[in-house]
Amino acid sequence: MNFDILYEKIKEYDKIMIFGHVRPDGDCYGSLNGLKDIIKTSFPKKSVFCLTSQVEFLSFVGKMDDVEDEEFIDSLAIICDTSTRERICDKRYTLCKEKIKIDHHVIIDNYGDYNIVDEDISATSLLICRFLFSYPDLKITPKGANALYTGIITDTSNFRYRGVNLETFTLAGRLIEMGVDVSFIDKNLSSESLRATKLKAFIYRSLKVTKHGVVYAKLTKTTIKYYNVSYDEAASLVTLLSNIKECPVWILIINYPKEIRVRIRSNGPDINKLAEKYGGGGHQKAAGTSLKSFSKVKSLLKDADELVRCYKDDIPHDL
Ligand code: AMP
Repeated sequence: MNFDILYEKIKEYDKIMIFGHVRPDGDCYGSLNGLKDIIKTSFPKKSVFCLTSQVEFLSFVGKMDDVEDEEFIDSLAIICDTSTRERICDKRYTLCKEKIKIDHHVIIDNYGDYNIVDEDISATSLLICRFLFSYPDLKITPKGANALYTGIITDTSNFRYRGVNLETFTLAGRLIEMGVDVSFIDKNLSSESLRATKLKAFIYRSLKVTKHGVVYAKLTKTTIKYYNVSYDEAASLVTLLSNIKECPVWILIINYPKEIRVRIRSNGPDINKLAEKYGGGGHQKAAGTSLKSFSKVKSLLKDADELVRCYKDDIPHDL
């Protein structure tokens, strides 16, 4: 994989806008802040801004910037970790002069003027690491290295998923050489409020399992209000439903104010097509969608159950 176009365009532009996706996660924050750090450290005169929503639990990685509309004119847009144009956090990317997409999701939409995509790599932050270590004049501070390391461990769930390989550990190791504070990152990512702990107990009490083994839990607005957690904090609890032997697919349904967010995970059948069928997308084992009605959720759960039935019977499945 060649990063020459990214390198050349960064050198060419004085103003660079780095965009992430809606509802940013650790890899989104990591790749944005890591790339900003690399550019600012290597080329201090350039103006670089990070754009996505501010997320409290990731604030230790870095802050997002407030940017006026006129700043976008004549700037370069670099859009990280975002598979489709609909998911880009800030529509003002269209005002930028040129766009570069850097991503690791399944390719559905090559919206960039230049597209640097590796569907097989576990995190966009790893692509930023590859870029960093490809050019001798690129530098990073320990804070930037912390950001990229956070992106790697959140998207691989601490090096646990398929796709983690020698390169993953090599790049993570090189970041550690750059000054990563492993325990600082772990402390920030692991600590949670007492309210969230109580909500966990609620999820364990209320989870349901479909006939063939899809485990799911629903978090209504009332529940979220009762436990006094943020919607994103509630959504982050999807991992609670993982690793139940009988249930290769697990789903957390969160009733946000304007939509029903469905987070789908698997250690069995691929679930990206299921998410796509319901207007979403994602990876083979981690996908999601946003729905408007609970009747659609019911239908999605039925399809998920059928997917698991076929998986357990070892027969092909067409959605
Ligand atoms: P999440 O459960 O929100 O972490 O999403 C898992 C993966 O699914 C993410 O990497 C997203 O790329 C993808 N995804 C989630 N929701 C959507 C959506 N509404 N449209 C397209 N892709 C989505």
